[in-house]
Amino acid sequence: MAGHSQVPSSGLSWNGHERKVTACLRARTFGIAPPPGVDSVTGVKEKAISLLQELTEAHSVPGHEDEVRAIFVDELEECGTLSADRSGCVFCELEGEGPRVIIAGHMDEVGFLVQNITPDGFIQFLAVGGWWEHSLLSQRVEIRTRSGEKITGVVASKPPHFLPEAQRRQVMTIDQMFIDVGATSRLEVEQEFGISLGDPIAPLSPFTPMQREDWYMAKAFDNRVGMAGTIQAGKQLAGTLHSNKIILAGTVQEEVGLRGAKTAANFAKPDVAIILEGPPADDTPGFSRAESQGRLGGGVQIRLFDPSAIMNPRLADLAIRTAKEEGIPHQVTVRRSGGTDAGSFHLAGEGIPSVVLGVPARYIHSHNSIIDLNDYLHMVSLAVALARRLDDSTVKGLTRFL
Ligand SMILES: [Zn+2]
Repeated sequence: MAGHSQVPSSGLSWNGHERKVTACLRARTFGIAPPPGVDSVTGVKEKAISLLQELTEAHSVPGHEDEVRAIFVDELEECGTLSADRSGCVFCELEGEGPRVIIAGHMDEVGFLVQNITPDGFIQFLAVGGWWEHSLLSQRVEIRTRSGEKITGVVASKPPHFLPEAQRRQVMTIDQMFIDVGATSRLEVEQEFGISLGDPIAPLSPFTPMQREDWYMAKAFDNRVGMAGTIQAGKQLAGTLHSNKIILAGTVQEEVGLRGAKTAANFAKPDVAIILEGPPADDTPGFSRAESQGRLGGGVQIRLFDPSAIMNPRLADLAIRTAKEEGIPHQVTVRRSGGTDAGSFHLAGEGIPSVVLGVPARYIHSHNSIIDLNDYLHMVSLAVALARRLDDSTVKGLTRFL
């Protein structure tokens, strides 16, 4: 951290907002263009690792995104003007004039809610977001109570000794499962532990560096890579001139149907949307290597299509051209399934040209997903380079149909 704190004010004065911008730089030097003499790649990378750890270990299931929202606010409050819509999406508007360009990631992760508490103190739960039951049994979870306390539990699984042969081969459904928090009665769960119906439950899984350099394992890379990317791209753009109005955004409730993006688009009224995501990788056994479009280490994904959105082809082309011209490794993706906040953004207002940039992550929607940090760094670079190119005439050109 020492060595990054001296930020020269020369060259940073623009639009008469030197004090505000340098304050942002002083407070957050690792995520932005650092002063001369500092290795910028290392600075951004160090910040990326600490930010991804903090974000992936946060508890932020749909409708309960408070912890990730607090990190967004803490990281960006000195870089621009903060606001929030009435569903909980949060925004940071940077100084600048011109078309409104939103860089958005969703703050929520797939999780659960307390659905019922049995008389003997076990917790029944339902899923918020898509889970495959195979990935659940014997995993640790954290229940966040109304007072903010986190109670650790485990999704209970019967020892094989008690399972008839036929049952061992079946997948258990979530409504048959329960969480054991170490209580012996409903009264204890409610009064001693403070757990109530509707409390959010998140996977419990520590951020872990892997043996291979730059590979990391954690829960919720979908979509904490998008959140970290929004924050770091925002810091880089806040430190430089750009010919548009950048709006950084964290949306809510993506995992239950791209809900927050609807109110976010109504609130922020962007002219263009760049969505940052953590989509599933397809480079593991069972996938054809020749058909892979989401390989770890293959670069930032530029998504042209999924069932939720056909991306504006001119914007998608600009993203691909920008990656090529800037030498940013990338992989172009056309997806048969899945969806992102672009599904809501591109239909808001009179239509908002949207594109999705992603960091492929193995095993998303489970307790342990894996990324290559270099793909993340390429996503941040492309988001910044693309945003810089979106000046007035370029943005108008995206929707010139007559
Ligand atoms: Zn997801």
